[in-house]
Amino acid sequence: MKKGKLIIFSAPSGSGKTTLVHYLLDKPELNLAFSISATSRQKRPNETDGKDYYFISPESFKEKIKKNEFIEWEEVYKNNYYGTLKSEVENLLNKGKNVIFDIDVKGGLNIKKQYPDNSLAVFVKPPSINELKKRLEGRQTETPEKIAMRIAKANEEIQYSKKFDVIIINDNLEKAKKEVYRLVKKFINESR
Ligand code: 5GP
Repeated sequence: MKKGKLIIFSAPSGSGKTTLVHYLLDKPELNLAFSISATSRQKRPNETDGKDYYFISPESFKEKIKKNEFIEWEEVYKNNYYGTLKSEVENLLNKGKNVIFDIDVKGGLNIKKQYPDNSLAVFVKPPSINELKKRLEGRQTETPEKIAMRIAKANEEIQYSKKFDVIIINDNLEKAKKEVYRLVKKFINESR
């Protein structure tokens, strides 16, 4: 059987990465399935457990770390753990799917390192830190302190962008959608 591909999307929060991931998931010809991560952060009102994330307690998260159930995990923000479950990725690959990840920069590079042959790591760059701040404020889901925390992290994450296979600058969403579609389709159709 043809081995499935792993498509990794990493970006500072607010760069439009999730929109691009959903856009690709809606294209049946790409045969993509979303890798649902586990997290210990609070669920937001618009999120569904088992669809956006597996929301679990910090204790249960730490238990899974001990049992070696993660491909990678990070304490992305203080006391907020996020991780990719081995079982999740294996199930999707066994179903014959290509797997798409929406994860932080370090996690993305970590997966790339473990699956160098069949993964494509895409970094979505916001046009500027100022624009990113505006977007996060417009979302109205985070407190000013949390926004400041995310901005500080974004500055740090942008330093890693060069290690990715491709960088997409999301200054125009329609253009970015077309570009990611073309790249991902080409990668999925290549034989490796
Ligand atoms: P949010 O709280 O906005 O959903 O996500 C915060 C950050 O954690 C985002 O950059 C998101 O991509 C990242 N993230 C989500 N799932 C995972 C994961 O499984 N592993 C890692 N390392 N980061 C993740």
